[in-house]
This record gives sequence, C-alpha cells and structure tokens, in this order.
Amino acid sequence: MKLQQSTWPEVEAYLKESKGIVIPIGSTEQHGPTGLIGTDAICPETIAQGLSEQGILIGPTLSIGMAQHHLGFPGTITLRPSTLMSVIKDVIMSLKGHGFRQFLFLNGHGGNTQTTQAAFSEVFAEHSLDREASNLAMRLLNWFQGPRVRSLIDELYASADGNHATPSEIALTWYAYPDQIRDVPLTPEQAPSGEIRDASDYRRRFPDGRIGSKPQLASVDHGRQFYEAGLADALEVWRSLTDS
Ligand SMILES: [Zn+2]
Repeated sequence: MKLQQSTWPEVEAYLKESKGIVIPIGSTEQHGPTGLIGTDAICPETIAQGLSEQGILIGPTLSIGMAQHHLGFPGTITLRPSTLMSVIKDVIMSLKGHGFRQFLFLNGHGGNTQTTQAAFSEVFAEHSLDREASNLAMRLLNWFQGPRVRSLIDELYASADGNHATPSEIALTWYAYPDQIRDVPLTPEQAPSGEIRDASDYRRRFPDGRIGSKPQLASVDHGRQFYEAGLADALEVWRSLTDS
C-alpha cells in the first residue's frame, strides 16, 4: 500500500489495523560514470515496493538528502544537515498527528545516517522535555547494511564493493530499471579509497566520482538477489519494530 496512491479514508482504515509506516529516504547525487543520479533513492524505493506488496504502508520517498561532498559533479542536489533534520522531523510529526507511532526509515545513502538519527533524537527530546507520554518508535535501516545484504556483498564482490557507486547498489538499480544500464569503460578498474571532506577535495581525489568500487561487476541478476535479500532484511526490522 502506498500513501501517494491512497485516499484519506483508506489511510484512516489502515490506522485501525497498524500504526506503522515505512519512509524510503535517499539522495540525488552522482554515482560515477555508470551509476544513476537517483541510485540512493531508487534502491530503498525498490525494496519498499516489496514491503508494499505485503500490505505495509509506504510513504513518499524523501529523495534529496545530505550530499554536499558530491556537489563537484553536475546533477547533485543537497540539503544541509539542518534542513534534512527539519524535513524528517516535520514528516514524522505530521504522521504522528494522524496516529502513526512506528516509523521505519529505509535509507539508501550513508551520508543521511547521522542526520536521520539526530532528527529522531530531536523528536524524542521534544517529547521528553514536555514529559509527554508517547509510544513512538523510530528506526533507521540502511538497506546496504542488513545482514543478508552484507553477506551477499561479501560473497559477490568482497572489497570491490567499495564505498560509493558500489556494484551492489548499481545492480539493484539495474534490476529496477533494466533499460537504464550504462556500459562505459572505467579507469582505474577499481576506484581509489579515502576519506570524504568537501566537494572540491572529493572531486580532486575521486575524479570519476567512485570511491573504492568496481561497479563493472554488477548485473541484473545480482540486482534481483539484492532485492530479495534487502526485502528479507527490511521485513525482519519491520516486524521487530511493530511487534514491540
Ligand atoms: Zn549510493
């Protein structure tokens, strides 16, 4: 069930059965010469499609995240961490007002992690300062860090998965959009690794946008396996969140 394709009476009826919702969250940022700009939003959205088919309500994808370090490449859009925190907080507060209590943020971008956790802390802080009794529960799952996905990455790519524009995420986008596969030679085959600073430093040290990855290893069939593993990981977290 998708919020964007529901009516308000349908959402009201859903709330009688469940207080939980999944919000896919990603980014709009370069993913090297072969990765789509929308990769980090497409990946959680694709896994969320599977959750939706199980009757779980899926909110709109928050497709712009914290991507300042990718601004050296055309097409990237970022929110400041403070803006992203406000967006996440307002989304939660809007839905909480309707009766939602369990929020699973299914995330596709490592750069969103700390900001999302900080937004959760802001929501909890307001409740605690007001001594408001609340049964709110908020969880962040980075789809690429679930246990089944991690073991699949180790099995298929090991260290060639790298840190950015990874074959695992690119495979999942190819599974979702098989007509959007790019075949471009990459030099070096495996990108350099290193720490992330600001946008100009990033472009200087990671000139084609990849970090540590060899995305040529991706395939549509791998993408199907990542979809299935990611869905199983997300369902497990959903159950623990909504059963508690
Ligand atoms: Zn990514």
